[in-house]
Amino acid sequence: MQKKAVVISGPSGVGKSTVCGRLLKLPGSCGIKFERSVSATTRKMRRNEKEGVDYYFIAEKKFGGWLKQRRFLEHADIAGARYGTLKSELKRISDYGSVPLLTLDPQGVLQLKRKKVDAVYIFLLPPRKSALKERLQKRSTETAVEMEKRIKLAESEMEYKSIYDYRVVNNDIDKAVAKILEIALRETKY
Ligand code: 5GP
Repeated sequence: MQKKAVVISGPSGVGKSTVCGRLLKLPGSCGIKFERSVSATTRKMRRNEKEGVDYYFIAEKKFGGWLKQRRFLEHADIAGARYGTLKSELKRISDYGSVPLLTLDPQGVLQLKRKKVDAVYIFLLPPRKSALKERLQKRSTETAVEMEKRIKLAESEMEYKSIYDYRVVNNDIDKAVAKILEIALRETKY
């Protein structure tokens, strides 16, 4: 049986990757084992990323092919690149007995909700609006133009916060991780 998935969403720069990284490292003794659902994307690999770990980095043409073959559960165009959740990832993770952990933008969340995918949707919020810009600037993995795009995108993503089941403020990473763990344990009924 497919495990209920945990979907983390939130504006660019809110710290989704850090929070998810921590959730993935939690020991089995926590009562839950998360595994990242590795998405496919057409965006360029950042210097700290690994193929098959952070994403499957693929060309536009291949993405289009996979789309035609209906290999995606959902997909979205974000800041000039394409992203998609592979059905095979959710199956692989569930077969292994782990809980799929997804990071999606609001478009992806809306598609999964429409398809009634069994998941809990958590929105990660910044402690204050200016924190997003500061984090994006610190990350400095994007060019100035790309960063402007991401700041605008982050602002528009904040508008979707009401579609989520839970909202967690990422003020203190330990507290945010603990809160998400508590939600996941309750929602996945371990
Ligand atoms: P980034 O390029 O910073 O890794 O991700 C940009 C945005 O794409 C983030 O909001 C992230 O959560 C979202 N994202 C990553 N993978 C997927 C996916 O498979 N589907 C959707 N809809 N969004 C994704």
